[in-house]
Amino acid sequence: LPEYAFIGRSNVGKSSLINMLTERKALAKTSSSPGKTQLINHFIINDNWFLVDLPGYGYAKVSKAARAEWAKMINYYLRNRANLMCVCVLIDSRHAPQAVDLEFMEKLGEEGIPFVMVFTKADKQSTAQTKALVTEYLRKMSEIWDELPRYFLTSAETGLGRDEVLDFIAEVNSEWKADAA
Ligand code: GDP
Repeated sequence: LPEYAFIGRSNVGKSSLINMLTERKALAKTSSSPGKTQLINHFIINDNWFLVDLPGYGYAKVSKAARAEWAKMINYYLRNRANLMCVCVLIDSRHAPQAVDLEFMEKLGEEGIPFVMVFTKADKQSTAQTKALVTEYLRKMSEIWDELPRYFLTSAETGLGRDEVLDFIAEVNSEWKADAA
């Protein structure tokens, strides 16, 4: 089955977004103690695709050894999933462009792994503010790439972006099925 991986900095709102997308409150636990998700969790959605919850990056208090371990696991995962359709990189709408996010996406680009940007917690500020941040990210990315990634504005609080993200996944899934047939 096709897979969609979700990843982002600690506290970006990944668990909340996963729960919002799947409408299953208990699926991914939100945690107040960061750094808890250390394993790669697969959730099967509608017998149709896998939602893959990848452990996040950017924790302040994580040792060098733990960071290296994380990089090893993530690299292994990213390079060995034949059915990985897309990595959804979660970005907190409220922060200025973060180096860790840009570096991670740059790496995905270099590896030829398709990805989209998913801006989280958009309800916390005005749409204009979120759009300004998106523009900032796209501007920085246009310095290195000709082709810019798709992006989604989301809120786990209001459900903003839910249909757009799920429609995108359904669209890619049907292309995948058509190719496989
Ligand atoms: P994770 O560590 O990336 O899985 O992040 P969580 O889903 O646990 O969320 C981190 C914090 O942000 C929690 O306090 C959530 O309630 C809050 N949060 C997550 N998503 C949203 C959102 O869309 N809007 C608002 N206002 N808060 C959110």
